[in-house]
Amino acid sequence: MADAEPKLTPAMQRYQEVKKQHPDAILLFRMGDFYELFYEDAQTAARVVGLTLTSRDKGSPNPIPMAGFPYHQLDNYLRKLIQAGYRASVCEQVEDPKLAKGLVKREVSRVVTPGTLTDDALLDPRESNFLATVYPEKDRVGLAWLELSTGRFVTTDIELKYLGDELARLRPAECLFPENARGSVAHQALLGMSGMMLAQRPAWCFVPDHARSILMQHFETATLEGFDLDQQSPGITAAGALLEYVCETQKTSLHHIVQLEPYRRGTNLILDEATRRSLELTRTLREGKREGSLLAVIDETVTPMGARLLNDWLSNPLTDVAAINRRLDAVGELMRDPLLCQEVRELLKQTYDLQRLTARISTGRATPRDLGCLASSLQILPKLKAKLCGRQSPLLQELEAGIELCPEIRSQIAALLVDEPPLSYQEGGVVRDGYNTELDELRDLARGGKEWIARYQAQEAARLGLPNLKVGFNRVFGYYLEVTSANADKGPPEYIRKQTLKNQERFITPELKTHEDRVLRAEQQSHSLEEDLFLKLREQIGLQGGRLRQTGDVMSQIDVLIALSVLAVSSNYCRPDVVAEIVLEIEEGRHPVLDRLQPSGQFVPNDVRLGGSNGLIQLITGPNMAGKSTYIRQVALLTIMAQMGSFVPARRAVIGVADRIFARVGASDELSKGQSTFMVEMTETARILNAATDRSVVILDEIGRGTSTYDGISLAWAVTEFIHDAIGCRTMFATHYHELTQLTNSLKNARNWNVAVREDADNVIFLHKIVEGPADKSYGIHVARLAGVPMDVVERSRAILQTLESDHFDPEGRPKFPDRPKMVRGRKRDRQLTLFAPPEHPLIETIKGINLDELTPSQALETLHRWRAELAQTQS
Ligand code: ADP
Repeated sequence: MADAEPKLTPAMQRYQEVKKQHPDAILLFRMGDFYELFYEDAQTAARVVGLTLTSRDKGSPNPIPMAGFPYHQLDNYLRKLIQAGYRASVCEQVEDPKLAKGLVKREVSRVVTPGTLTDDALLDPRESNFLATVYPEKDRVGLAWLELSTGRFVTTDIELKYLGDELARLRPAECLFPENARGSVAHQALLGMSGMMLAQRPAWCFVPDHARSILMQHFETATLEGFDLDQQSPGITAAGALLEYVCETQKTSLHHIVQLEPYRRGTNLILDEATRRSLELTRTLREGKREGSLLAVIDETVTPMGARLLNDWLSNPLTDVAAINRRLDAVGELMRDPLLCQEVRELLKQTYDLQRLTARISTGRATPRDLGCLASSLQILPKLKAKLCGRQSPLLQELEAGIELCPEIRSQIAALLVDEPPLSYQEGGVVRDGYNTELDELRDLARGGKEWIARYQAQEAARLGLPNLKVGFNRVFGYYLEVTSANADKGPPEYIRKQTLKNQERFITPELKTHEDRVLRAEQQSHSLEEDLFLKLREQIGLQGGRLRQTGDVMSQIDVLIALSVLAVSSNYCRPDVVAEIVLEIEEGRHPVLDRLQPSGQFVPNDVRLGGSNGLIQLITGPNMAGKSTYIRQVALLTIMAQMGSFVPARRAVIGVADRIFARVGASDELSKGQSTFMVEMTETARILNAATDRSVVILDEIGRGTSTYDGISLAWAVTEFIHDAIGCRTMFATHYHELTQLTNSLKNARNWNVAVREDADNVIFLHKIVEGPADKSYGIHVARLAGVPMDVVERSRAILQTLESDHFDPEGRPKFPDRPKMVRGRKRDRQLTLFAPPEHPLIETIKGINLDELTPSQALETLHRWRAELAQTQS
C-alpha cells in the first residue's frame, strides 16, 4: 500500500531529523514561546514529570502525541527529567522568527545528562557532580572523571578489584563504558552502584589512538607527554572517550578544562563503600541524607565551593604525614587569630561560586548577571589577599600567593556592564552608556525618537489649529495621529485615514512612518550590537578560565581551613599528633556527631590505647545499648578527621597514619541485594581478612551475630586469631559474646575492655565509659536478679552458666578446644569441600595406606571380603 503516514509539516520534518541525532534523549523542541515534546517523549514526560498529554493534528487519523511547557520553565522541567533518570536534548530556534524566511532554523544547543550539568538551577551548590568513564583493559581499568561545572578533569588506572572503592569515593552521577564491555566483571561492578546513570558508548570511542587524538586536539598539544601520565595507561583512553562525549553533548567551548590530572591510588586513605556507609561520613545509613552525617556536623564553610571541597577532603583523607601536617599547621595558625578568620569569612561570603561561574563563562552559558557576579567577586580579591599576607604556615603562604587578582578582567567587565545587569543578553540594557560610540548613537536615535514625536505633535497641532491633536502608538499600525471626530475633515491630504473610533479619527502620515522605521530599527540594532559586545567579552574572559579556576580553588581551600579552625575552637578539639608509627592513642575522645548534637557535657569521653605495649587488638565486651558501637565508630571517625587535616574531639590524640580503614558497624541490620544478612556479613569479613595490611585500622561490630551462637562465637574467635597472627593491624572488636574475653589468654596482642555500668538499688545504669578489663561474665543474670526474677531462677541459671563454661574452658579460662596452628594469609583450600559434606569413611584411610605392589591376588581378594564384612557391620 502507498505511504499511509500523513505528510509531515516542515517543522515536524525538522523535529524528526533532530530527534535522530540523539535518539536516547528526550527532545525538547522550541516552538515560539513553548518547548514541545512529541510521540513517545511526550508520553514519557506526561508520565514522569506530569505534563498534560494532548495531540497534534487531532482531526487526522494518526494524531501525534504532544506535550509542552512555557519556555521560562525549562530549568524546572530539565531538573525533573534528570532526577527521574533521563537525558534531555534542548533544540532552540537559532534565528529570530521575525527575520526568518520560511521555517525558523532550529538546532540542538546541548544535551543535558546527569553527569554534565552546569546550570546552577540544576545542581546542588554544596555537592560535586561527576561524570565518570570506565574502560576495562585486561585486569586493569582506566577510570577518568570530570566535574564539568568546575572543569576538574582527572584520570587513573587501577586494578579491577578497586573499581568499586573508587566509584564509592566519587559517587558519579553518570558513568560511561564501552558497549562491547557489557557483561564483563567491570560492568557487573558498575551495575552494583546505586544512584548512577550508566551510559554505553560505541566501542570505537575507546580505540586508544582515537581517544588520544581527542585529548591532543582539546589541549592543543602534539603529544600527551607533558601531562604527568603513564602514556600507555588505559586511563588516557577513558579520558579521551569522556571528553568526546562531553563535546558531543555540550556543543560549546570547554576552555575551562585546562588540565588532565593524574590520580594515584595510595596517596589517599582507602575507604570502601561499606565503611563509608557504616561510618555515615557524608550521608546517613538509613535515610541517605546529608543531615546527621559527619560532613553536615563539621561543615562550617561559608561558600558552596568550600562546602564541596570539605566533602572532597572528608571523602579522600591523606596518608602522607607531611601533607597532613601542612593542613594542620594552617588550621592551627588560623585558630590563633579568630578576628582574621571572621574578617576573611565576611569577605568570602560576599563572593560568588567562582568555580561554577568560570565554567559557565567558558562553556558559553553565562548570563550578563553572571559576569556581574564575577566582577563583584573579583573586587573582593585584593582585600582577601591583603588579609592573608604575612602568614607563617607554608600552606597559607602558598594560598595567598595563588590568588590571582585578575584586575584586567574586572575592569573589562566594569567598563562594559551596567551596574545591575539583566539575566538575558538579547533584550538590551546590558552595556553601559559611553562604552561604545555606535551603540550610544543608536540608543540616542531610539530615545531621541520620542523627543521627535513630541515635537511633531506640537508642530501639527499648531499647523492645524487643533490643540487636542495627539500622537499615539498601537501594535497594529504603529504610530498614528489622533483628532476628535468633529475635526476629522481638517486633516490635510497627506493624512491617511487608518481607523475610526466612536469619538476619534486616526491617521498616519508618510513622515511619521519614516520616523517610526528609523526608531524601531535603531532599537533592534542597538540590541544586537549589545549582544555582540557581550558575547565578545564573555569569550575573552572564557579564555582566562584557568586563572579564574585556580583562584576559585584557592578560595575554597581558605574557606575549608578557616571552617576547620572555627570548628576546632567552638567544639574544643585538639591537634592530633599524626605519626608514621602503628599507634592509636586517644585520651578523652568524643564521637564528633553525638558530641555536637547532644547537649554540652552529656557525651562521656573515652580513651583508646593501641600499639606498642598496649597491644593491637581491643576486644570490647558489654551488653547491648552500652555504647560499644559508638565507641569504635568514634575511633574510625577521629582517624579519618586527623588524616583529612582536621583537629579532633579529644583531649590528646596520637594517630599513626592508616592506609585503609575497614568499618563494619551496625550494617548487619541491613538486608542488601537479596543476600542473607549473614552472607553479607561474611562476604565483608572475607574482604577485610584478605585486604587489610598491618597499617590498616579494622573496626568490627558483633561479627557472627547473624548465625547460631556457637557458630558465631567460633567464627568471631577464629577471625580475631587470624587478624592477630596473619595481619597484625590495629583492631577494635565489639561483641556481646562474653566468651571472647578468653582470647586474651592466648593472643599476646589482644586486650580486654568493657563498658562500665553502675547499679543502684534496683537499676543498672550504663555509664558509657569504656575501661580496661573483661566484662562481668554473669552480667545478664545480674540484671535478671535486679529485675525481680525469682531467686530460684537466678540461682539455677548461675549453676547452668558455670557448667556451660566448664564444658569449654579449664579453670584458668583457657579454651578446651584444639590449639590453633599459626595462621597465615594466602593458604589455598586443600581440596574442594562442599558444605555439609559427610565425614570421610574410615575405610578410605585404610585404602590409601595399602601398598598394592606387595599384595598377592589372593590377599587382595581376601582384603575385599574383609572390608565388605566390616562395611555390613557398620551399616547394620
Ligand atoms: P551498643 O553498640 O553497645 O549496643 P550504642 O553504641 O549503639 O550501643 O549506644 C547506645 C546509645 O547510647 C546510643 O544511642 C548513644 O546515644 C548512647 N551513647 C553511646 N555512647 C555514649 C557516650 N559515650 N556518651 C553518651 N551517650 C552515649
